[in-house]
Amino acid sequence: IDATGQTTYKQTPASALQVAIQLGIAYTVQAAGSMDQREVLIQDFEVVESIFFPRQGSKWTPPHHYKDFHFKIYAPFGFYYFRERFGIHSGDFRDSLCDKALIELSNSGASGSLFYLSSDDKFILKTVQCREAEFLQRLLPGYYNTLLRNRHTLLPKFYGLFCVCMGGKNIRIVVMNNLHPTSVPIHFKYDLKGSTHRRQASRQECSKQVPTYKDLDFLRDLPNGLLMEAGHYDVFRRTIHEDCLLLQSFRIMDYSLLVAIHKISQGEEECSPLTSDHSIGVFPVTTCKGEKMLVFTGIIDVLQSYRLVKKLEHSWKSLFQDGEAVSVHQPGFYAVRFEMFLCEKVFKRTPAKSSLSKTSRL
Ligand code: ATP
Ligand code: CA
Ligand code: CA
Repeated sequence: IDATGQTTYKQTPASALQVAIQLGIAYTVQAAGSMDQREVLIQDFEVVESIFFPRQGSKWTPPHHYKDFHFKIYAPFGFYYFRERFGIHSGDFRDSLCDKALIELSNSGASGSLFYLSSDDKFILKTVQCREAEFLQRLLPGYYNTLLRNRHTLLPKFYGLFCVCMGGKNIRIVVMNNLHPTSVPIHFKYDLKGSTHRRQASRQECSKQVPTYKDLDFLRDLPNGLLMEAGHYDVFRRTIHEDCLLLQSFRIMDYSLLVAIHKISQGEEECSPLTSDHSIGVFPVTTCKGEKMLVFTGIIDVLQSYRLVKKLEHSWKSLFQDGEAVSVHQPGFYAVRFEMFLCEKVFKRTPAKSSLSKTSRL
């Protein structure tokens, strides 16, 4: 935030960034309109297209009120192909992202990334670092191979990777799925890693309307965990296991499971249009006291590869602290601890009961 109260990112005003993103994506989608219907090839992931948007407009681009900028589209055909496979057609993608202003979110983590939500709730945009963008590019072929095979996967779905080059700065942005619809009130939100070391929401975070709590907060608030009906639990556990294997194979760590909780009030179940298009990662649960809740879950922040950045951090951190509990740890260890925490401490299996059957069709 600068002196005038405007958000800036890398010295670029958020308003200019937003317009650049929207113009760039509108262009991307229009170009996608003429793409062939063919299978995706490995070379498609190496393509980077760059378009110049001068302030006064050009033959291909409309005029705008900001500095000239370049907009880079990474793997345009690769992402187009995936969007189609996930049922996101180009026109809808453009309408969601470009028709109305994006909503700036205040959940910036320690990394200082900016987050935006599309006005229709479907997509989250996040600014990422150069090495995260490069990592995503390398990850893509293998990542999607798995994603398209496993329909329950809780891994983030990336729908586009772009770069706005404005005033000498490069701002990279990923577009991904939003995990919880704003139409359903979220009462609690946890970002869980399975680590306990310093995993507690800061005082500043706690003062927000819906803070993002962490592992230690969860254990304090819900020491008995959340009970999941057997059928859902088995799917959840299998999915987490498969997703962790993939993350581990790419030596990824430091990811979290985001768990957003909606408390179901009495009478609400009968008229619940709650989850129609958000049903992956949505589960009904109960607390040990019998309170009913709906949880929206998904794995987030998967662009940190241990091989690239974490080695150094691990060795010095473990000199000073209990190596086992530090959240920066080898990917294999990280994955196992993550899985154990979520499948044993956070979610617990209960045999199917008739009282749950009403919500279980979700
Ligand atoms: P850090 O690296 O410090 O953890 P970050 O900037 O990489 O932070 P993330 O961990 O990706 O940020 O996300 C920060 C918060 O934003 C999450 O705790 C969550 O509340 C929210 N968030 C992130 N991705 C999504 C998503 N796909 N849907 C809904 N909320 C999200
Ligand atoms: Ca994170
Ligand atoms: Ca991060």
